[in-house]
Amino acid sequence: METLVLKFGGAALRDLGQFQKVADIIALKKNSYDRLVVVVSAMGKMTDELLSLARQIMPDPPKREQDMLISVGERISMTLLAMVLFQRGYQAISLTGSQAGIITCGRHSDARVLDVKPRRILPHLDEGKIVIVAGFQGVSSDGEITTLGRGGSDTTAVALAIALKATRVEFYKDVKGIYSADPKKDHTAEYLPELTYIEALKITMKSERKILHPRAIELAIKNNIPLLVSSFEEEGSGSLIIQDGRDLFEKPIYEALECSVQ
Ligand code: ASP
Ligand code: MG
Repeated sequence: METLVLKFGGAALRDLGQFQKVADIIALKKNSYDRLVVVVSAMGKMTDELLSLARQIMPDPPKREQDMLISVGERISMTLLAMVLFQRGYQAISLTGSQAGIITCGRHSDARVLDVKPRRILPHLDEGKIVIVAGFQGVSSDGEITTLGRGGSDTTAVALAIALKATRVEFYKDVKGIYSADPKKDHTAEYLPELTYIEALKITMKSERKILHPRAIELAIKNNIPLLVSSFEEEGSGSLIIQDGRDLFEKPIYEALECSVQ
């Protein structure tokens, strides 16, 4: 049975109306995949707003408290999306990064994924439920809540896809896909329906607006997970990032074995 991981960013979840559009995409995918995992970011600019609240109290808040605060953004998205799906008659369950088994090092605000233990995800998938996971967050071996750095939900999605041996990850963004350059600044920019990981990495590294988190691409390269970058507004569009000629899933390789604590 094939597993698909979908990822929706802040723009796709900017208000409750958008949640309905996201639910439409999920419903469509549920027709072709029995096992669906949906990774969500915080709504719109919520992470910035939470950070600004903290900074009104002190310019450099303790990183542990900051992680506890900003990880809330993704929890709001996951629960609201679960409710929207329930309302439509789907069985869904939301899980925090920690509940989903995203194990990270203890480096607050810039943690790396060390392992994924999807013990609590699998039984729900077996029962046919749509599992919604809060992106951007994990738990350290001490049980502390960590975050992966800004834009980290993309990395959560790829890490889960590795652990669940998913067919691919589909990212729903406010762009049609990946262009050779920024189409807003360069009129010669070409839309790329298919590209390799290295091309995708080069493009995202040099563009100011990160279409995909480079760490997510690096993680996909190490594990040969196909990625589709698609628009939540334009059905059927998308850039597929793949690489031929490598064996799938010899053994999962995550971001790091440990990280230095700042
Ligand atoms: N909400 C977090 C951020 O804005 C994570 C993410 O969007 O991927 O950085
Ligand atoms: Mg965000």
